[in-house]
Amino acid sequence: MSNYIVFDLEWNQGGSIREQELKELPFEIVEIGAVRMNENREITGSFSRLIKPQVYKKMHSITGKLIHLTMNDLEKGAPFLDVISDFFKWAGEKPVFCTWGNLDLTELQRNMDYYHMDPLSVGPIEYIDVQKLFSLAFEDGKLRRNLEFGIDYMKLKKTHPFHRALSDAQYTAEIFQKIPESYLSYVSFDNYVTPKNKRQEIHIVFDEYAKFISREFDTREKLMRDPEVISTRCYLCHRNLKKKIRWFTPNGKHYYSVAWCEKHGYMKSKIRIKKAEDGGFFVVKTSKFISRELAEEIKLKQQKSKLKLKKRRPE
Ligand SMILES: [Zn+2]
Repeated sequence: MSNYIVFDLEWNQGGSIREQELKELPFEIVEIGAVRMNENREITGSFSRLIKPQVYKKMHSITGKLIHLTMNDLEKGAPFLDVISDFFKWAGEKPVFCTWGNLDLTELQRNMDYYHMDPLSVGPIEYIDVQKLFSLAFEDGKLRRNLEFGIDYMKLKKTHPFHRALSDAQYTAEIFQKIPESYLSYVSFDNYVTPKNKRQEIHIVFDEYAKFISREFDTREKLMRDPEVISTRCYLCHRNLKKKIRWFTPNGKHYYSVAWCEKHGYMKSKIRIKKAEDGGFFVVKTSKFISRELAEEIKLKQQKSKLKLKKRRPE
């Protein structure tokens, strides 16, 4: 039984004239709107509150143009702590958060941290990125459209203004209702809190690929020596595979390899090294099966990056 909580935040940012940006809080949440959906994705309730700013007292020119709120409006809001505590009470047990894009859950946690609230979880949070599902279901899976594009695409009525939290949450929910059931398994993970030990690491297999989120390491070097990070085990039959193309990096950020499974063919893996909020490093590794042609293309890429390396470091 799923308890979907589709939410949207509006925030103001620091760095406007005569107001310094606070490093630990670049975006201050000023409004939250949400709708609740049952497991049939029927809307069963809503939540909408303004938050009285405590950090930035001036509306930044960028956010001011975007959100339809003035500082006068926000003065009527309640303190962040009260609003967010009410929000979680309203959200209920084991909410499955749904947002348009991957920013809101991160910023929510950053704001909660600023006010020393208890963390939302001990590791990455599984959630539904409706923007991503929209792309997977109706476009190429890679494009990321804005909410209004999604509404137009679905021919839904534009009855409320965009960039107010509750209306954006409602629009997101309406698009979510149109996503075919088969796409609901494509969950996302918010890594504001990274896995801290092996047990919290995430292994998940989707229809066409697998994903691994590692625990945090203090250096990139340690990370790229970890057996699980660099393993190329087949995610379908769990055999350790021989690498056809060893790990290489064309840019220092992403690493690629191709391994061969007798049963399943060429498995390409990609490691993305990410910086954690508290300064350490972790990886997101994805693996999928590819054609021989694609494997050969990757071989060429590897040869090119070897050449580049040689040019940079003449012997
Ligand atoms: Zn296999």
